[in-house]
Amino acid sequence: MKTQVIDGAALARSIRAGLGARVTALAGKNARPGLAVILVGEDPASQVYVRNKSRACEEAGIASFQHSLPASTSQQQLLTLVGTLNRDPAVHGILVQLPLPKHISADAIIRAIAPEKDVDGFHPENVGLLATGNARFVPCTPAGVMRLLAHAGVELAGKHAVVVGRSNIVGKPVALLLLEKHATVTICHSRTPDLGAVIRQADVVVAAVGKPRMIGAEMVKSGAAVIDVGINRIPDGPNAGKLCGDVDYAGLLGKAGCITPVPGGVGPMTIALLPENTVRAAEFAAPNG
Ligand code: NDP
Repeated sequence: MKTQVIDGAALARSIRAGLGARVTALAGKNARPGLAVILVGEDPASQVYVRNKSRACEEAGIASFQHSLPASTSQQQLLTLVGTLNRDPAVHGILVQLPLPKHISADAIIRAIAPEKDVDGFHPENVGLLATGNARFVPCTPAGVMRLLAHAGVELAGKHAVVVGRSNIVGKPVALLLLEKHATVTICHSRTPDLGAVIRQADVVVAAVGKPRMIGAEMVKSGAAVIDVGINRIPDGPNAGKLCGDVDYAGLLGKAGCITPVPGGVGPMTIALLPENTVRAAEFAAPNG
C-alpha cells in the first residue's frame, strides 16, 4: 500500500497565507489583532515555543506583546498581569505558556483569563462550549489534528477512532472533535490493558502520549489514518537527540493509509492555528465583528 504522508508544514503555510485577507479586513475597521504571550521562568523548550508562536503572529500581521517573567514571580503577580491584559483593548488573545512553576496554579491562572481572550481554549467556559458543540476557540493542537484529517480526505462518520492519551490539552478535546464528526471514539490511557488490541480496531489513530515510537506498526490496522501528536527526543542509537513521534513512522510507511511525520506534521499546525484563533478573537471584538 502506498501511504499518503500528510505535510503539516505545507498546510500550515496555506493557513497563514489565508489569514492575510482577514487581517486586512480588520485594518479597515482600525483594528489590529494583538496577542500577549506570558512566559514564566527559563525553561528552554518553553522559550522556543514562545519564540515560534510570537514569530508566527508577527508574520501574520498580528501585534505580539511578550511578557517574560522570572521563575520567582508569585501567583498574585501573574494574576495581576492577566487582569491588566484582560482590560487592554489592544490585546485580543492571551496565552500563558505551560507548564508554570510549581508554586503557581495553572488552573487559577487559566480561569483568570477573560474567556473571550482565551485563544488556547483552556478556560472552563471554552472547554464547556467545545464539549457542547459550540466551540468559541478550539485548542490549537486538537484543531490541527482535525484539519490534517480533513486535508487528507479521511472520512470520519461511522469510523472507529482511537485516541491514545487523555490530557486536557490534546487527548480529551481531540476525542470530542472526532465525536462531533460522528466517529465512534475510544480513548486509551496508561491504565488501558492490551493497548495493541484496541488500536488494531481503529480506522483512525491519534497518538498523544509522549513516548518515543511506543505504537509499533504491528499495532495498527492496514490502511488506517495515523496522526502522531507526540514530540519526543530519540533516546539512543545513531539518531539520539533527534525528534520522533509516538508511532513507528518508518514501520508504518507502506501500511498506514496516511500518516503525519514528526517533525513536520501536527507541530507546524499548532503554531499556525494560534494566529488564526487570535484573528478570530479580534473579529469578535471589532465593531460589527
Ligand atoms: P500528557 O503527559 O499530559 O498526557 C499523556 C497521556 O498519555 C496521558 O493521558 C497518559 O495516560 C497517556 N499514556 C502515558 N503512557 C501511556 C501508555 N503506556 N499507554 C497508553 N497511554 C499512555 O501529554 P500531552 O497530552 O500534553 O502531550 C502528549 C504528547 O504530545 C507529548 O509528546 C507532547 O510533547 C506532544 N505535544 C505535541 C504538540 C504539538 O504541537 N505537536 C502540542 C502538545 C503536546 P494517563 O492519563 O493514564 O497518565
